Amino acid sequence: METIRFDELELYPQILRGIKEMGFEEATPIQSKAIPVVLSGADVIGQAQTGTGKTAAFGVPVLQKVDPSNKKTQVIILSPTRELAIQVADELRKLSKYMHGVKVLPVYGGQEITKQIRSLKGGAQIIIGTPGRVMDHLRRKTIRCDYVDTIVLDEADEMLNMGFREDIETILEYIPQERQTILFSATMPKPILDITKKYQHDAVTIKVVKKELTVPSIDQYYYDVKRRDKVDVLTRLLDYYDPKLSLVFCNTKRMVDELAQELQGRGYFAEGLHGDMKQSQRDRVMKSFRNGKTDILIATDVAARGIDVDDVEAVFNYDIPQDDEYYVHRIGRTGRAGRCGRAFTFVKGKEVYKLKDIQRYCKTKILAQPIPSSDDVAQIKAEKVMEKIANIIEEEDLREMIDIIDRQVNESDYTAMDIAAAFLKQALGAGVESDTGAEYDFENTGAEEGMVRLFINIGKKQNVKPGDVLGAIAGESGMPGKLVGAIDMFDKYTFVEVPREYGHEVLDAMKNAKIKGKSVSVEPANQK
Ligand code: ADP
Ligand code: MG
Repeated sequence: METIRFDELELYPQILRGIKEMGFEEATPIQSKAIPVVLSGADVIGQAQTGTGKTAAFGVPVLQKVDPSNKKTQVIILSPTRELAIQVADELRKLSKYMHGVKVLPVYGGQEITKQIRSLKGGAQIIIGTPGRVMDHLRRKTIRCDYVDTIVLDEADEMLNMGFREDIETILEYIPQERQTILFSATMPKPILDITKKYQHDAVTIKVVKKELTVPSIDQYYYDVKRRDKVDVLTRLLDYYDPKLSLVFCNTKRMVDELAQELQGRGYFAEGLHGDMKQSQRDRVMKSFRNGKTDILIATDVAARGIDVDDVEAVFNYDIPQDDEYYVHRIGRTGRAGRCGRAFTFVKGKEVYKLKDIQRYCKTKILAQPIPSSDDVAQIKAEKVMEKIANIIEEEDLREMIDIIDRQVNESDYTAMDIAAAFLKQALGAGVESDTGAEYDFENTGAEEGMVRLFINIGKKQNVKPGDVLGAIAGESGMPGKLVGAIDMFDKYTFVEVPREYGHEVLDAMKNAKIKGKSVSVEPANQK
C-alpha cells in the first residue's frame, strides 16, 4: 500500500515540526489511510495491528482540530489501561510540543482523584482516560463535555475485553450528538461493530490488510514439547541462545505466576506480568525489565500490550497463542528497529495444526527445530569462554603467566593441554554458578566502611572515562549514580566503590554489560 509523507497533508507547521522531531520519516499505512479521513471530520473505524502507529493516526488530525484559544475540554480519548493512557498522552504531548496553549492530560484509576480534579481545573483540551475514571469525572462534573466535539475509543477491543463496555456506552451518552466518533482497534469482534452501529454515523472503515502485518527478519522456530518438559526446554534454549532480553508468553495468569516462580527457583532473573497484579507491582516489573535487571519477562497477551521495549532478542510462545493474530503481536516484540530477533513456539500433539493455521494466516514459515542437547549448551558456553580467552591473549601481557605455566609443566606430569582444559572446566563451572546467583566475597575488597570495591577489567587505555563507568553502573543496576563512590582508573583496569547493600545488584547487573561497547568483567576487588 502507498504510504504518504506527513508534509503532503495540510497540517499546521507546528504539528509537522513535532512529527519531525519524533523522527517519523513517513506516515505508516494506517496513518496514511486514516489521517485524511479523520481530518475530513467523518466518523472512523480504524483497524490495524499493534505497533502500527494508531495513536498518531488519530492524534495528528485531532490536534489539527483542537482550538488552542479555548481552554475547555474538546477531545476525550478512552484507553484501556493506565499504561496505555500515559503512552498516548506522551505521544500527543510530543506531537503538540510546538502548539502553544494545547494541554493534554491523562486521568486513570489508581491516581488520587482530588489531585486529578485539581489538574482538570487547570483546563485541558485533550483528556485521555480509562473509561471507569472518565465516567467518574463526568458524573462529578469535574470533566464537562459542552465543548467536546471529538471522542476516540482507542484499543477498543482491549477495552471490551476488560469489561468496559457499559462504561463506554455511558460516556458516549454524555457527549454531545454533534461530534466526531473515532474508534481504533487491532481486532474487530462483533461487540465492537455493535457499538459502532449504535454510536457512529456513516462511519468510514479503514483497514490495513493482514498480510502487511507479518514481521520480517525474525527467525521463527517451533519445538515439539510435552507439557511437563516445557520448563526444561525453555531453560535449555535460554542457556543456549543467551538472549539479552526475552519475553515469554503464557495464555493464563496462573501459568505466568507458576513459570515465574519456577524460573526464579532455577536462578534466572525472571518476573511475571499480568492483569491481576497491582499497578505498583507492574510498574516495578517493567522498570526492572527496561533496565535489564530482569532479563526474562513472562506475560499474558493483554499485559504485554502496554509494553514498549525495543531490544527484546527472543520471544517464546510457551503456550501457543489462542488467536492467530496474537502470534503476530507476540513475535512483533522482537526484531524491532532493524535488530534481529528470534521467536520460539512450543507445541504439543495436535497443536501442530494450529501452527499450520498461523503459518497460513501470517504467510510465514515456522521451522521445526531440534532441542539443543546439554552438550550443545556446554559447547556454546565453552565457545563464549574461549572468545574471552582469545581477547585476553590478544590484549594482555601474559609473560609472567607463561613462566608460571612453564614451570608447572616442567615440575609436574601435566601437559599444557591438561592445564588449559582444567582452567576451561573451572571457567565453565564458575559460569554456571554465577548464573544461579553466586555468592560474592565482600570481606576483603579494601573499600571504605560500608562500601565494596569492585574490579573492572577495563581502563584508560581503552579510552574509558570515570563518567562511562559511573554511567554503566547506574544505568545497568538502576542504583542512583550519586551513590557510586571512589573511582580509581588505571591503564587496563578500574576500581570503583559502591555501597555494600548494592554490591550484589551491581555485580549481577554488570554480568552482561558493556562499557563503551566493550564486554567487561566485574568482580569484587581482592586485597588479601
Ligand atoms: P499502536 O497503537 O498501533 O499499537 P503506537 O501508536 O503505539 O501503535 O505506535 C507504535 C510506535 O511507533 C510508537 O513508538 C510510535 O511513536 C511509533 N510511530 C508511530 N508512527 C510512526 C511513524 N510514522 N514512523 C515511525 N514510527 C512511528
Ligand atoms: Mg495504540
